[in-house]
Amino acid sequence: MKKRYGPAFRKETIELARCPACKGKAVIQGVFHRMACVQCNASGWVAAGTGEALPVEELVTQLSLRLQAAQRHINELKHPRAAGPEALYQESNRLGAGGTNYTGD
Ligand SMILES: [Zn+2]
Repeated sequence: MKKRYGPAFRKETIELARCPACKGKAVIQGVFHRMACVQCNASGWVAAGTGEALPVEELVTQLSLRLQAAQRHINELKHPRAAGPEALYQESNRLGAGGTNYTGD
């Protein structure tokens, strides 16, 4: 079992953990209204290694990476046949090689 990520990941993925203060909700229920959780920069996530909030500019990228991964996962569930890089490669290969039946002239 090998887990490989493509070269598109130029930025390093930081392992995230659910913020213990707001339990991943990004907001804390106050007496009258909900307040942004300061412990996780109102993201609901903290760095798994340190348990501290990520800087906002780093947080945006990390959340984006997670969202992209989640969307890929959803797409794979919706289209199970196109799952994995091998399937994608075969599909594009088929389209390139035999897809456009040129019949000469
Ligand atoms: Zn929090």
